Amino acid sequence: MSVVTSTTTRLRVIWEPGSDVLVGICHCGAEHRAEDPVGIWQWLLSHPDHEAEQR
Ligand SMILES: [Zn+2]
Repeated sequence: MSVVTSTTTRLRVIWEPGSDVLVGICHCGAEHRAEDPVGIWQWLLSHPDHEAEQR
């Protein structure tokens, strides 16, 4: 894991037990699910983009 910056300290990646799904939680409250850890981090680090998502 080479991507470690001060930005990641506010981000969380949780593994959902019983599945292969990882849940990324941004400091802004947005959540994203994916099976690929790399995809999770790319999504988290694209913060200004995903912030536009509305439920
Ligand atoms: Zn965000």
